[in-house]
Parts: sequence; structure tokens; C-alpha cells
Amino acid sequence: MARQAQAAELRSVNPATLEPVGTVRISPPEEVAEVVAEARLAAERWAQSTFADRRALLGRVAAELLDAADEIAATVTAETGKPLVESYTAELFVALDNLVWAASNASLVLRPERLRHPQPHLRHKRGWLLYEPLGVIGVISPWNFPLGIALTQAFFAVAAGNAVVVKPSELAPLSGVWAERVFRAAGVPAGLVRVVQGGAATGDAVVRSPGVGKVVFTGSRATGRLVAAAAGERLRPVTLELGGKDPMLVFEDADFDRAVAGAVWGSFSNCGQVCSAVERIYVARPLHEAFVEELARRARRLRIGEGRELQTELGPLVAEERRNHVEELVADALSRGGELRTGGSRPELGLPGWFHEPTVLTGVEREARIEREEIFGPVVTVAPFADEDEAVRLANGSSFGLGASVWTSDLERARRLARRLEAGSVWTNDVSYSYGTGQASWGGTKESGFGRTHSKHGLYELSRVKFADLDRGRVPVPWWYPYDEGVLSGFRGMAGVLYGEGLKRKLGSAWRHRRGLLRLGRRYLSGS
Ligand code: NAD
Repeated sequence: MARQAQAAELRSVNPATLEPVGTVRISPPEEVAEVVAEARLAAERWAQSTFADRRALLGRVAAELLDAADEIAATVTAETGKPLVESYTAELFVALDNLVWAASNASLVLRPERLRHPQPHLRHKRGWLLYEPLGVIGVISPWNFPLGIALTQAFFAVAAGNAVVVKPSELAPLSGVWAERVFRAAGVPAGLVRVVQGGAATGDAVVRSPGVGKVVFTGSRATGRLVAAAAGERLRPVTLELGGKDPMLVFEDADFDRAVAGAVWGSFSNCGQVCSAVERIYVARPLHEAFVEELARRARRLRIGEGRELQTELGPLVAEERRNHVEELVADALSRGGELRTGGSRPELGLPGWFHEPTVLTGVEREARIEREEIFGPVVTVAPFADEDEAVRLANGSSFGLGASVWTSDLERARRLARRLEAGSVWTNDVSYSYGTGQASWGGTKESGFGRTHSKHGLYELSRVKFADLDRGRVPVPWWYPYDEGVLSGFRGMAGVLYGEGLKRKLGSAWRHRRGLLRLGRRYLSGS
């Protein structure tokens, strides 16, 4: 990546001013393996911890986060360029909400679950589903929410009894440092939560290190493929949280003002560098033109600048090549019939950073790159639809499927569309917010990835489920040796009796195979 030094250091740069923010040492692959080995030892001990121990540790981490909140927010803003408000709402709030939910609910979700055996020949057995920790979870995280994402994954992993090795993005390494720092300050057992630094080579070392029980990867589709392939070689499970190209469907009965406000925030917060950013807006045809005009008007009013200035609403892109990518997509869209309704240029701010105006495009052809590739910048396309079916067809016509939002006052329609839209999350009259809630599942369909984080499903995915059977060993097992014709007839009869539809079929089967059934019955009762 651009800012990975050849030598042993990563230099973090403020993308608004291009001033240095600081440096961190790169962890060489052999060091990653050592850190994972230490984490594995810590994981063995932590697996024996009670849910109360885990909750107490996470509670102390929450206190540390709150105490250091201003310092953390300043670091995140300096490295990513995002407005300070967003370093609170989309990083600290996200981390804290997920922490509290995981800490409070792990005991309910992961406690042993009693199983009942309804089959007559198994009724005497007792069984449990046990949820055991996986060991060491390798968390590879992106730069766009360098604190919120890394910590959310770490909190769920620790609550489920695992150790964690976090590999933050090389574009926001100092934010990543906080992931280990707040745990240390909270008195975490040695080795349980560690951070290793670097780019692709360090991430790859995490995926391949012996001792990693699972990889939770959040990043681009392209890197996700590499991670899945490397994990596959080792038969190592992986959760992939990849990119998106989220549609927003605005119906005629929507609250117009709220929908435009949602579109502006959904498309341009974090400078559009959000996995669940609104990248495609589809509007009911009669509303389309008015919507585009108002969206463009409000986009022009956004205050662009340095994130640390309190009035700033839109910061820069994180790196020069990311802005180049956005500019290429816009140029390609314009060359294919697209019309610029606002933006499209670098703003004049007197700052050297990688800024780009909030941009609204209409009339873009289906073949344009912007229709297929994740933009990951402050650019959104708007197009009209004729009816609900067309809206769904347009929304689902993407290889991504992370989130989608429906803007309507008809909640029946919202319910219907939630089922029809191909996405991991569907919001009504809102967008994206649920990453910051522990209880809602998070994850993608199609090329947005697989597996789930957050919610009870996030906890299950960080656990190994084990079926544990308890049996006093006094009841004979009918399918053990010896085998003969009578036994076979007995099982024919039993199949019909147990699984046949309706009394007539069950009785017919019992009558036809009565001798075999008697034989099995005797064997069952006598134990011979
Ligand atoms: P990226 O794929 O470039 O990097 C992600 C992480 O992977 C970084 O830490 C990077 O160092 C590491 N990495 C790079 N090559 C690797 C390799 N070969 N093996 C192991 N690790 C490797 O992504 P990014 O630019 O940091 O983040 C932006 C992307 O993340 C966007 O596509 C965005 O949509 C996606 N994202 C998804 C979610 C989600 O929840 N689905 C959330 C945030 C971001």
C-alpha cells in the first residue's frame, strides 16, 4: 500500500493536511507467529473463565474507552480525516454498544443448551449443545472505521471466551494501537488481546499462523478472495465482511425531507467510505427530478475540511489512489451518458489533502464501471423507477448484497421488500445504523461476503458447538449386531411407524412387519 515503508515502519499520514501523524513498527511474520502462540496459551486459560469474568473485563475496558475517548477520537480523525463527530458516533459509540451487548448477552446465548430426544427409542438419553471458544481469533480490519470495527470483533471474541490478535489497516495503525491499549489498561490477562502491525504481509501471516482458530476479515472483495484462498489451504474457517453497493429505494409516499437528509448522510458521511454507504438511489419517477435537485442542493452545502474543525461535515478520501479511483469512475460514467448534477471536482480549500466534492450523477448507463464497482467515495448515482417490481429488480441487479434501505410510509411495503431485497440488512427510513447495535446481525450476501458478526449469530460463529450426550448405558441399542432377516423386517416396519404420514400408513407398516417389530421389541426389552 502507499504508506507502507520498505523498512520496518509504517508512517501514518493525515489525509487532509498530509502531515505525519506518527509511526508504528511493522511486525515481521515470525513475530506474528510468536504473538499467536502466546495468545493461544492465554486462550487456553481464558476458555476456563466464567461469563462473569468476561463481563468484568469488558466493563473495565468500557471505562478505559470512555476515559480516553477524546484522545482516541483525535487519533482516528487525524489518521482518517473523518469529522470528529463521526469519530464519536461511528467509532466510539459503535464499539461501546457492541461491548455492552456482547458482555451482557454472552452468558444467555452461549450457556449449555439442553436437548430433548423425541424419538421413542432415544427418550432415555440426555443431551446438550455446548458452545466452546475457538481459541485465537485473527481479526483483520480496514481503515474506514479503524477503531469501531477492530474493537467490535475483539469484544465479541473475548465475550465468547477467545483470545484475539488484531491486524489493523496500515492506513490507520495508530487507531489500531488503541485496541490493545484499552485492554491492557483494563488489566487483560497477558497475551489475550494483541495487535500486530503492517500491511498485506502481516495480514497474510495472521491468516496462516498455526494456532489461529478463525479469521474474521473485514475489507475489500479483492482482498477477501485472497484471505479466503489462504484460509482454505489450511482449512481454517473465515468470516468475510466485504464491500457493498447499497441501494436506497425512495417511494412516492416517503417523507421527502427525511429521505433527502438520509440520502445526503448515507452517501457522504465518512466521505462515502462506508461499506454500507448509499451508492445507488432509485426514486419513484414522479419524485425523481425534485429529489435529485434537492439532494444536489444539500450536497453543495456540506462543509468540507479538516476533521478536527468542529463544523466540518465532509473530510478527505484516505489516500491518493482512492481519490484517483473515484475520479476514474466519475470520468467513465460521464463518458457513458452520465450527467453531473453537482460536484465532480477537487474542491478549492487551500489544503493539500485528498479531497473530492460530494457528487451526484444521473443518467448513468448500466455498462458504466460505477454501476458495477464499489465507489467508496463521496459519489452517488440516482435513477428513476416505475413501480415496486422495477425498484426491486434494479436494487438486486448488483453482485454485492450488503445493505439496502426502503423509504416509504407504508410499513406493509417495507415488510414485503425486506424479504425481496438481496441484502444482509434492510432498513426502513434509515440506513446503516445497525452496525452500532450489538443485537442486530451484520453481514453480506452474494459478493459482500459470508458469515455473520454481531448478535447471537456473531457469538455462535466465534464458538465451536459440541453435542454432548449423557446415557447411563442401560438401554439396549436396536441397530447393534447381530443382523438377520427378522431384524431387517423390524427396521422396515419401524421406518413406516416412525416416519410415515398419517395413522393409516403407520398402522399398515406395523401390521406388515409385525414379526420383525416384535423381534426388535424383544431385543430392546431383554437387552439381547
Ligand atoms: P483492504 O481489503 O484493502 O484491506 C483490509 C485489511 O486487509 C487491511 O488490514 C489490509 O492490510 C489487509 N490485507 C491486505 N492484503 C491482505 C492479504 N493478502 N492477506 C491478509 N490481509 C490483507 O480494505 P480497506 O481499503 O482497508 O477497506 C475498505 C473495504 O472494506 C471496502 O471494500 C469496504 O466496503 C470494506 N468494508 C466492509 C465492511 C463490512 O462490514 N462488510 C466494513 C468496513 C469496510
